[in-house]
Amino acid sequence: MEPLKIGFVGLGVMGSPMAANLLKAGFGVSVYNRTPSKCSPLMDRGANVCKSLPDLASSSRVVITMVSDTPDVEAVLFGTEGLAKGLQPGAIVIDMSTISPSATIGFSGRLQEQGVSMLDAPVSGGETGAIAGTLSIMVGGAQTAYELCKPLFDALGRTIVYAGPSGSGQKTKLVNQVIGALNLLAVVEGLRLATASELDIETTLKAVGAGAAGSWMVSNLGPKIAMGDFRPGFSIRLQQKDVRLASECFSELGANAPGTSLMLSLLNSALEKGLGELGNQGLYQLLA
Ligand code: NAP
Repeated sequence: MEPLKIGFVGLGVMGSPMAANLLKAGFGVSVYNRTPSKCSPLMDRGANVCKSLPDLASSSRVVITMVSDTPDVEAVLFGTEGLAKGLQPGAIVIDMSTISPSATIGFSGRLQEQGVSMLDAPVSGGETGAIAGTLSIMVGGAQTAYELCKPLFDALGRTIVYAGPSGSGQKTKLVNQVIGALNLLAVVEGLRLATASELDIETTLKAVGAGAAGSWMVSNLGPKIAMGDFRPGFSIRLQQKDVRLASECFSELGANAPGTSLMLSLLNSALEKGLGELGNQGLYQLLA
């Protein structure tokens, strides 16, 4: 069977290495980015650069979107010069951004009206996982579309999970974000205690990282905090977006979420203090 022709929209921190991994795996990839200069490194690796979203959509069987937030996915799909203008019946849209589950179900229904399937397939694993092709990918939508797209997911990730019907991938991702964000707060607060107690952070991380307190956040963000490296892999701006989405979900369900509420108010304070473009480990600065 011929490899699927893939269109890729959104060449940010995550999208660029993901598109590069699809090229490396032998897929034909067309790319589009709102800021066109970000397409050049992908063009050098063999990608076809499209000047408009409808052009990209009409020449692709599968279109991946990896943009920021719910309104951005809506604009890319249904804006006046959006993908929907060019998508052909039988095409599949895979949104890999982290956005609202309920909006996702709405977008999927609108695309279905023109014979286009949509999978929601948000990821976890950060920039490192995107570069290494080791992302965790949680997929919602029709199982037939998922099976057709599985080879593509295999080029991007190591753990690929089919979570259920439309919106299930995004719901799973929000569970991931609640656990990750509360763990981030634990790491930042713990390391604040280490500093206030005049402990060496690197030595402390060595001791606690190997025991019951060990986690992805400890192993990946702890050393960055120790080195004073607050550059973004995952920005505070995006972390706030995900905790806000989780908080909205809890509210829709009428469920209690004290940790999520606390984390949202801390992240809102970080944004008010102008820390939004720091990496999420920059929460350490807020507690200073
Ligand atoms: P990013 O570096 O900020 O890149 C965002 C990309 O989306 C850029 O290419 C941007 O285009 C494009 N974009 C945003 N709004 C747009 C719009 N309205 N129309 C057209 N293009 C638009 O973000 P990222 O870190 O790659 O994250 C992308 C998604 O993955 C987010 O939903 C994030 O929550 C999720 N995610 C991120 C990480 C991480 O560690 N970074 C991990 C897991 C999941 P321009 O270049 O023109 O700005």
